[in-house]
Amino acid sequence: MVNKDQALQDLVESISMRYFRRKFKHKAFYNPRLKTTGGRYHLRSGDIDINPLVEEMHGREELVGVIKHELCHYHLHQQGMPYQHRDQEFKLLLRQVGGSRYVKDMRTNKEYRLLYQCVECQTEYFRQRKLNTKRYACGKCRGKLVLVQDVLS
Ligand SMILES: [Zn+2]
Ligand SMILES: [Zn+2]
Repeated sequence: MVNKDQALQDLVESISMRYFRRKFKHKAFYNPRLKTTGGRYHLRSGDIDINPLVEEMHGREELVGVIKHELCHYHLHQQGMPYQHRDQEFKLLLRQVGGSRYVKDMRTNKEYRLLYQCVECQTEYFRQRKLNTKRYACGKCRGKLVLVQDVLS
């Protein structure tokens, strides 16, 4: 596991230098608890975690695509630039480096733009369109749903 994480760290660092011409100065690691998302960039810590199933299910190319996607969030955010999916800067950079465009639901292999999460039980919901969170509640516990923003996919 430690060796796998080191290999991932090396891969993220080399993709960062090669495609972004900038250093990745934080930690990258596999997170087996990620159930549905391929990867995440954490705004507070600066770290990136990757779902180990990305490569297992979709191959090396998809892994590289997911890493590029997370690095787009990373480098824009680290430089104080707009870094969210809807931002022009993000879209442009993603196109330049050829990253994966959307969050992929790892269970169904469908692509979704939006990720909602229940504030009570933390269940994640992928959607292609915006949800009216006043009308829709969590299917499991009826808790309130919020658009995930502080931990980006
Ligand atoms: Zn819930
Ligand atoms: Zn993203």
